Amino acid sequence: MAVAVEKNKQITKSIEKWFSREAQDFPWRCDDTPWGRLVSEFMAQQTQIARVAERWPFVMERFPIPERLAKSDEQDILLLWQGLGYYRRAKHLKKAAEMIMLEFGGDVPNDVDALKQLPGVGKYTAGAIASIAFGAREPMVDANVHRVLCRLWNHKNEWAPSKWTWKISEQLVKACNSPKVFNEGLMEFGAVICTPKSPACSDCPLQMNCSAYAKKTQDKVPPPKKSLQRKRVFHYAVVLQKGNKIAFERRADQGLWASMWQVPTIDSIEELSAKEVSVKLQLKSPLIKMGNFEHVLSHRIVSFTVFSCKVERDSRFSWLNQEAVKELPLASAQRKVLAVHCAT
Ligand code: SF4
Repeated sequence: MAVAVEKNKQITKSIEKWFSREAQDFPWRCDDTPWGRLVSEFMAQQTQIARVAERWPFVMERFPIPERLAKSDEQDILLLWQGLGYYRRAKHLKKAAEMIMLEFGGDVPNDVDALKQLPGVGKYTAGAIASIAFGAREPMVDANVHRVLCRLWNHKNEWAPSKWTWKISEQLVKACNSPKVFNEGLMEFGAVICTPKSPACSDCPLQMNCSAYAKKTQDKVPPPKKSLQRKRVFHYAVVLQKGNKIAFERRADQGLWASMWQVPTIDSIEELSAKEVSVKLQLKSPLIKMGNFEHVLSHRIVSFTVFSCKVERDSRFSWLNQEAVKELPLASAQRKVLAVHCAT
């Protein structure tokens, strides 16, 4: 028991010391507010941190406090989210801002149970905000933390955060000096030192406490995620032109790219001919094939076929010129559709 306590103390001390020296210069660390932290956590789910760091200042400039986002149109946050993917996070962030205004007097709540009531906030994000924004002694496990903890204890059983890692995280956050520094430091340590491939063990301040290093099992711990079979689906995008304007429509509120805009597009689980696409879109003029491409998402591969078609005005759609398209929330796949169309 005393050995375990000592190991926990050494680990937390080393991480806090390392992070105080090596913390990266992210904008939410310079302008450190609970709302800014909440925004950065929403943006960082499934998106590379460098891209989040580029975009976060723009989101904060437009929505410096929850009230501004709560009162805005949903399309405003979707527009700022373009290219980051997983647009449901943007919709959740807006709903979270509305709830902060309605239920919490405009302030981000500071305890885990209240945070978990916010749309889009799970156990990880609640732990991150409570500990990093408010200094609460709350555990927090993401994929980076899971990997470091599994290696320190040579725990070989699970590829993803588990009950075991949450229990160890809880013990460590009790032993640390500052939950804010320790939790954020451990996460960053996993991202830059104890990386999935080729961890920097030779320079690692935790080397003496690392069971995987002692047993040379770093490459096997944690075990790899079982490879995912992505489902293939087919999207048929038709660039309808009238003069210098192009037709756009808004996607449904639920599902893939919910509420984002697109050129008229048919989603299908099977391949369709140009004629079938034309019939489904009730078009009378012939479709001209412009090209195709694949768009890979975490759970599916979307095969896009791009057509163009000249039509008379069609009141089912919004007709926009190039300048207006810049102000439209488009998923990156639809930007590729427009690029295929422009290139031909
Ligand atoms: S010694 Fe290597 S495997 Fe162990 S914590 Fe450090 S970087 Fe990770």
